[in-house]
Amino acid sequence: MANKPEGVVILGSTGSIGKSTLAVIKQNTNRYRVDGLSCHDNISLLAEQIKEFSPHIVSVGKGKSEQLKQLLGDKSSGLEIFEGSSGHLEVAKCKTANKIIAAMVGSAGIEPVMAGIRAGKTIALANKESLVLAGSLLISEAEKHSVSILPIDSEHNAVFQSLNGESRKSLDHITLTASGGPFRQTEYEDFKDITLKDALNHPNWSMGKKITIDSATMMNKCLEIIEAKWLFNLAPEQIKVLVHPQSIVHSMVTYKDASTICQMGIPDMRIPIANCLGFPERIESGCEFLNLSEIGTLTFEEPDFNKFPTLQMAYDVLELGGGTPAALNGANEVLVDLFLKEEIPFLQIFESLKNLVQSMKKIFGSTEISKYPFLKNPDSISDAIKADSWGRDYISEHLSSQ
Ligand code: MG
Repeated sequence: MANKPEGVVILGSTGSIGKSTLAVIKQNTNRYRVDGLSCHDNISLLAEQIKEFSPHIVSVGKGKSEQLKQLLGDKSSGLEIFEGSSGHLEVAKCKTANKIIAAMVGSAGIEPVMAGIRAGKTIALANKESLVLAGSLLISEAEKHSVSILPIDSEHNAVFQSLNGESRKSLDHITLTASGGPFRQTEYEDFKDITLKDALNHPNWSMGKKITIDSATMMNKCLEIIEAKWLFNLAPEQIKVLVHPQSIVHSMVTYKDASTICQMGIPDMRIPIANCLGFPERIESGCEFLNLSEIGTLTFEEPDFNKFPTLQMAYDVLELGGGTPAALNGANEVLVDLFLKEEIPFLQIFESLKNLVQSMKKIFGSTEISKYPFLKNPDSISDAIKADSWGRDYISEHLSSQ
């Protein structure tokens, strides 16, 4: 390809997806140029990435830019350095880049993603929380600006590949696969003894801490059901989940004629990242090819909705609608944070989330709902963020009253 390399921005470059994206770009330096990077607080790694990939604009967490300048020394000359949430927006709007890899963790990702959409950039989305928080707003904004949202999340990328441009009318349903996490075979009676170390020990995927805990509670699959609804414009009953412990079949699409198409590969995020970077072409990911004879057996089983109540919560909040998925997501972020600090036991995550969903059902079934317009009908990002905060506050109050 004799063309100039395409400019890419990576939001959240020091996290697991950010690092994998840079690894794929390193395999394809003739095609891609890193124009912008952002991170929250891993400044020393960001400094190394800047030295290696030479972006012209970067952004760091509030109060961290001095530290970065010191680490870079004379390498910071000519580099635009921003900080805080407004800084991340500047990077998202970077004029020389066509594509944004949105790999920040949690609800902090939503504003930069929206800014990128409004600036007309193609969004390769790894930040599932932004769709959970404000799926309908993001999708309608993307349509308005004729912007494509390409899913990096491995399951959604598998669905995207399996849809392969077919008419939506031909689709019957999709099946998201789930590894089942580290506690697939643990008896529910033993869940009370689960430690942080147990929960951080994922059998197949190496990921950031937040998503690893979400995989252990299967909240990750709950968020992915919501994410799939928005990405592929599906009714909740068109989204099924199947446990597949080997994590080789990353998800599948079933058409009206009873054909099921799936995407397979070793469990390595560089594959969906390479798909999003290269689309509509295929580029090298640097991953090993799948060797099915070595793997030998692929198994599938129904998920256990009793052991993992988080799965049903996806369908519950999709039925309630409005800001309830955002509230559930905000609540979960607080609980995961507390669990990571070893301040609450594992089962408390289920307990508190169940209470929250029950309370939201009660509110929606009564006149009380008129007090919460942001829950009933969020029509802006600030409403979505209010719903998210409401979920967070609910958990703090609920835990302190125990
Ligand atoms: Mg996933």
